[in-house]
Amino acid sequence: MTLSHAFPFRPRKSWGQHFLIDHNIARKIVDLANIASGQNIVEIGPGKGILTGLLLERGARVLAIEIDPQLVDLLHKTFPPSLPFELICMDACRYPYENIRHPYKVVANLPYNISTPLFFRLIEETSYLTEMILMVQKEVADRLIARVGTKQYGALSVIFQSLADIKVAFPVPPQCFRPRPKVSSSVIKVILSKKDSVVLKDNKLFGKVVRASFSHRRKFLINALTDAGFARDMVSKTLHQIGIDPHARAEMLSLHTFTNLANELYGIR
Ligand code: SAM
Repeated sequence: MTLSHAFPFRPRKSWGQHFLIDHNIARKIVDLANIASGQNIVEIGPGKGILTGLLLERGARVLAIEIDPQLVDLLHKTFPPSLPFELICMDACRYPYENIRHPYKVVANLPYNISTPLFFRLIEETSYLTEMILMVQKEVADRLIARVGTKQYGALSVIFQSLADIKVAFPVPPQCFRPRPKVSSSVIKVILSKKDSVVLKDNKLFGKVVRASFSHRRKFLINALTDAGFARDMVSKTLHQIGIDPHARAEMLSLHTFTNLANELYGIR
């Protein structure tokens, strides 16, 4: 399944339209998804269909969400209705993933500008999502796998690591795309798994605590949490109980410590 390269098209920066042109990289991405025949795949931003074609060749059932109506037209012409391919023209951040009622994987070369909101949307709202194979900006991949105490360590690292095992599979240089992006990319594999080590009493409260703690990186923890609406005396008591210095900063707190903090705050709300 190949595409007409004669298609006249002006890529839009605002939609992160850097199309993959390297077929080896495309194959390596689809290999990582380990597709069994009939596997449900959600593809975000199929673009001109370089990954879509391979996914269909491997026997996947593909639901693709593309925001650009011109590309949707092209994809309809490329992939005949006989294929197990459903295409929706909309903003992938607004798609109701919670309505998907069967296990599925996400495969995507993500538009850089929506990767972070989309991550939160996908992992916090869906329970049937098992895996994600994603091309992201290298800097985002580094933040996802960052360890406590490093510059890249932040809310994205803590929340993702509480829900998933994340591996950086391989780097992808700018010359593999047209037009070339200014930044390097990485392909990551994210396996969503309830981790035994992370038992949260309230996922939403955990997210709120982590985000609030990192909202002002230079602030002491007690001030950041108080500013986010937690009562000062309650925070102070909790930090003392679990042995955290109220003058600590968020980047020094491990996932384990954030888990304890959120669970303690849950208990005394
Ligand atoms: N998958 C194709 C490839 O690998 O060549 C295209 C990848 S390109 C980096 C990102 C794609 O996502 C573009 O097709 C773009 O139109 C689409 N896109 C951008 N923002 C989107 C959004 N909010 N919802 C759905 N698709 C979006």
